Amino acid sequence: MQSDLSPLAVPGVRSLKPYEPGKPIEELERELGIRVSAKLASNENPLGPSQRTVQALQDHMQELSYYPDGSTFALKKALASRHGVPPECITMGNGSNDVLDLIARTFLGPGRAAVFSRHAFAVYPIATQAVGARAKVAAAHDAEHDMPYGHDLETMLSLIDQDTRVVFIANPNNPTGTWLPHAPLRDFIEAVPAHVIVVVDEAYFEYVLEPEYPDSSTWLVRFPNLIVTRTFSKIHALAGLRIGYGLSDPSIAELLNRVRQPFNVNTLAQVGALAALEDSDHVRRSIEVNTAGMQQLTSAFRARNLSYIPSVGNFLCVDMARHALPIYRALLKGGVIVRPVANYGLTDHLRISIGTREQNGLFLKSLDKILAL
Ligand code: PMP
Repeated sequence: MQSDLSPLAVPGVRSLKPYEPGKPIEELERELGIRVSAKLASNENPLGPSQRTVQALQDHMQELSYYPDGSTFALKKALASRHGVPPECITMGNGSNDVLDLIARTFLGPGRAAVFSRHAFAVYPIATQAVGARAKVAAAHDAEHDMPYGHDLETMLSLIDQDTRVVFIANPNNPTGTWLPHAPLRDFIEAVPAHVIVVVDEAYFEYVLEPEYPDSSTWLVRFPNLIVTRTFSKIHALAGLRIGYGLSDPSIAELLNRVRQPFNVNTLAQVGALAALEDSDHVRRSIEVNTAGMQQLTSAFRARNLSYIPSVGNFLCVDMARHALPIYRALLKGGVIVRPVANYGLTDHLRISIGTREQNGLFLKSLDKILAL
């Protein structure tokens, strides 16, 4: 039975192209008859969650027959103290993706527009279009710029008009790994008119070691139209639990919480996040593994004359100097999963999530075999 009921959907959804997630390991193994040796496709933490976090999750299994705490009381309290803000500034999400969606549903809709950069994280156009708002895509810096393919704040500012309600900024951006320093970002937010919400998506915040990289959550008092999003999916290695949050003025959080599903953050996610937040050793180790892996991959790419977009995240876009899809497929056959980024307008690049030394080595070995053919 094949009916087409798509005309019944709202206009934004009718023409929406869904987000393409990295495929689960089991699915690929089944489909391709391969054994996956390195999954470097979704910017996950190759160390996995800390022992302390896993123990905390096991200790709370018995509570699964109850609904979760809809107010996320204990975790919000810990986050509030971590960020030096009242708990009323926090909106919890089923991943930070959920918070981005809540923002779109709260502030966007037909007749309204969102501004974001070309090559920016794919959820911004999806969240915008799904609610019937218009996307205004700013040209990014070109390949020769100091920050190749990065957000061009001047161009983004020039696209803001009366209908604009949201600007999405990824700092750093996925998939490019490009970032915005303190002064230009602060000046940009200062220049944005008061009727526009500025979202600074800091999913990879903890990985960034640049001295000029800003913690924009410290600007919340100064800019009531600012929302900062963070996640437990990356450095805290809890992507599978789905938990993230937004920091904002309490009046914005109150609006977002009107739209939020009452139990959008499950019990184990709350418990796991609380344990992970307190485990600073695991965060430190994760940064060390990432820094070493970044070094390993960038020097390997330089040795092979492959250029890459300098990245401050836990991933790296490498320019294969030809259409990258066949290389992606060949890597896949060899059990190494990376991410093609043609959907981001980067047809010749592949995005590699930084893995352990061993995983990065397996990827490089596979790549060498393919490039030698
Ligand atoms: N923002 C950026 C820039 C991302 O790369 C991601 C994950 N790929 C997210 C937000 C969403 O992550 P999550 O929903 O797991 O918090």
